[in-house]
Amino acid sequence: MKRIGIIGAGLASLYSACYLAKQGHLVVVFDKNTMPGGRSQSFQEDGFTFDMGPSWYWMPDVIDRMFNDLGEKREDYFSLTRLDPAYQVFWEDKTSTRIPSKKAELIELFDTYEDKGGEKLQKFLDDAKIKYDIAMDSFIENPGIKLNELLKLSILNDALKLDIFKSVEKDIAKRFSSDKARNILNFPALFLGERPDKIPAMYTLMNYADLELGTWYPEGGMNAIAAALEKIAKVHGAEFHYNIAVEEITVENNLASGLKVNGKIEKFDKIIAGADYNHVEQNLLPKKYRRYDHKYWDKRKMAPSSLIFYIGLNKQIAQLNHHNLFFDESLTDHGKEIYDDPKWPTKPLFYVSATTKTDSSVAPKGFENLMVLIPLATELDDTPEMREKYFKIIMDRMELHCKEPILEYLIYKKSFCINDFKSAYNSYKGNAYGLANTLGQTANLKPKIKSKLQNVYFCGQLTVPGPGIPPALISGKIAAKQLITEL
Ligand SMILES: Cc1cc2nc3c(=O)[nH]c(=O)nc-3n(C[C@H](O)[C@H](O)[C@H](O)COP(=O)(O)OP(=O)(O)OC[C@H]3O[C@@H](n4cnc5c(N)ncnc54)[C@H](O)[C@@H]3O)c2cc1C
Repeated sequence: MKRIGIIGAGLASLYSACYLAKQGHLVVVFDKNTMPGGRSQSFQEDGFTFDMGPSWYWMPDVIDRMFNDLGEKREDYFSLTRLDPAYQVFWEDKTSTRIPSKKAELIELFDTYEDKGGEKLQKFLDDAKIKYDIAMDSFIENPGIKLNELLKLSILNDALKLDIFKSVEKDIAKRFSSDKARNILNFPALFLGERPDKIPAMYTLMNYADLELGTWYPEGGMNAIAAALEKIAKVHGAEFHYNIAVEEITVENNLASGLKVNGKIEKFDKIIAGADYNHVEQNLLPKKYRRYDHKYWDKRKMAPSSLIFYIGLNKQIAQLNHHNLFFDESLTDHGKEIYDDPKWPTKPLFYVSATTKTDSSVAPKGFENLMVLIPLATELDDTPEMREKYFKIIMDRMELHCKEPILEYLIYKKSFCINDFKSAYNSYKGNAYGLANTLGQTANLKPKIKSKLQNVYFCGQLTVPGPGIPPALISGKIAAKQLITEL
């Protein structure tokens, strides 16, 4: 039995904590925030409960499997509701489309966009399923340490089907001609932190997750996953300490020996680092044990940051659904202002989550709970004036599309942006979603799960397999398994 210190209580760290505690190790977790979940925290104020980060529950099969791998059943902790419509898209022509969860209705919808749209969609989703299955079966849980992980016969045989040298956008543009079909199908690439023309077509597997596996909502909100994992880890003896930032990873005889917290050293045999990779390496590890330097990090393509507003209204907005995408401006132009020429967007696209549409417990009766998110380049000048400027822009556009006044019903508002990502999570450049999933930052080319300093393992959205709830959980498992393998 080893004493294992874990930095951070985000989803990746929580999963590692469960996995290792279940194997009988003594696990101690420290997080600088007040509750489990990291970027997937929630908060309550004035009768409203807000999920602070993730709101799309995708790939329920993978999340269930992660619970099964711990010998647990997800349904013993929280139930899931499949959303129908899955989400709604507002267009430039002032119309909106509800994306149905039923396949036949989806096919019909695509038939209205273009000739044989439904048939083309079916073929596209069949191909996306092949990619999804290959990823899940062959490499999603690879530690990304050795090249031969990618040289397995099964992966080589399937390499062509993965389409890694074509972009998501090219693949979609070749198959579909209408702007609406293209926009709906390019949307999941936004989760991957780059423009769809820079993301390998392999990631159209996300379209399979979106349109076939569906969009779900966990009872109690997105923090239900973190709460469940914390409970499981505690049952197996893990200790959790909140409001405590780890100050240093200590070293003895070239081996990690403990963690410095509150100015004191706690001895550990092994360390799992689930806080942002860059923060751990650059701030908690002595220089000689850092695998990557400032130059390396500066060259990484980061996924965007976000400007988020948590909003409480004392009425409900009829036109809104649970998930709403405001695609009423150009996706390409906004993308360029995030990735190519970083600046505050001229005409931002944005996303609105109204959890009240599914869950009456998150706001007082008859009220609306909104989370509005504008993707932004990292490292912009985040000032109160800019936040207010964009608040006005989104309010005007929401009122226009929803065809009713909204601002005058506002009774709660809080914003969260680049500076908050840095201060709340020690996020590099204020990123929200880690590293972009470009070809050069995929699999073995991501920052390694093993530190240069023996006994330290990384997990989380900046290492394999990448950003998002399912990958973060998988990352926690990969790090824990690697640690166990090396014991
Ligand atoms: C706004 C937003 C929306 C998102 N939407 C979705 C979505 O809809 N669906 C989806 O699947 N994914 C979504 N994601 C991505 C997903 O939330 C993340 O990929 C995942 O939660 C990352 O988990 P993690 O464990 O890697 O890191 P984190 O959640 O960041 O956890 C790291 C923890 O380490 C702590 N920490 C940092 N430094 C220290 C220190 N020195 N000492 C102690 N603790 C420290 C941090 O406070 C944090 O709690 C979203 C993310 C954001 C930010």
